[in-house]
Amino acid sequence: MKATAIDQERLLELQKIDTQILQAEHRKKSLAELVEISRLESQLSKLSSEQNHLAVDEGDIKRELAKAEEDVEQVRNRKKKDEARLASGTGSPKDLENLQHEVATLERRIAELEEVELEVMVRLDEVSGKIAALAEEITGKTGEKVSLEVVANEKLDEIKRELAKLQGDRADISATIDGELIKLYEKIRSDKGGIGAAEIIRRRCTGCQLDLTAADAARFGSTALDEVIRCEECRRILIRTANSGL
Ligand SMILES: [Zn+2]
Repeated sequence: MKATAIDQERLLELQKIDTQILQAEHRKKSLAELVEISRLESQLSKLSSEQNHLAVDEGDIKRELAKAEEDVEQVRNRKKKDEARLASGTGSPKDLENLQHEVATLERRIAELEEVELEVMVRLDEVSGKIAALAEEITGKTGEKVSLEVVANEKLDEIKRELAKLQGDRADISATIDGELIKLYEKIRSDKGGIGAAEIIRRRCTGCQLDLTAADAARFGSTALDEVIRCEECRRILIRTANSGL
């Protein structure tokens, strides 16, 4: 294939732009902030599911507490009634003795039920404390995430601007290069990890980083400059420049 030396030189320029585009796209995908944000998101989702479980537990314990309070209240009312009857002094001495006995039993029962109530209150405090600590952790991590998003968005905007400029440059330079040469370049570029054209620098292909054989170097040195040459190792288009050492 033939292409003017100027077209070949421009192709090398195009390759430089395409390499910069690939690098910018790679930076866009692998921003450290984005990695950190996704780490925080998975932590936040774990924390919030933990929080939901604890909220269910808290609801259960609150109902348990209400029940314990009701139990104590019931026995207290019973005791009050008994005491009122005792105070009124009505009934036989036997009745009064029985009532006194019952009041003592109810007092012990109240003490037992208050123990239960206290134990439930302690558990409620524990769960509520855990929920509050989780809420604080979630707030902290959410704040961290928001700040990282601000930084990430700034960086992404900058990369987008850079990419827009590179795409513009690419379009400008592509328009000046022979269509057949571009077609060959694009085909090789898509097969060869983004590099379709490589400069020969000091008798080395900068596409595959292999030195040219002495025979290939001699042949390339004597081939007409408007002849498109390809690396014998990687088949990329080789561009001869003042750095080539041929
Ligand atoms: Zn090569």
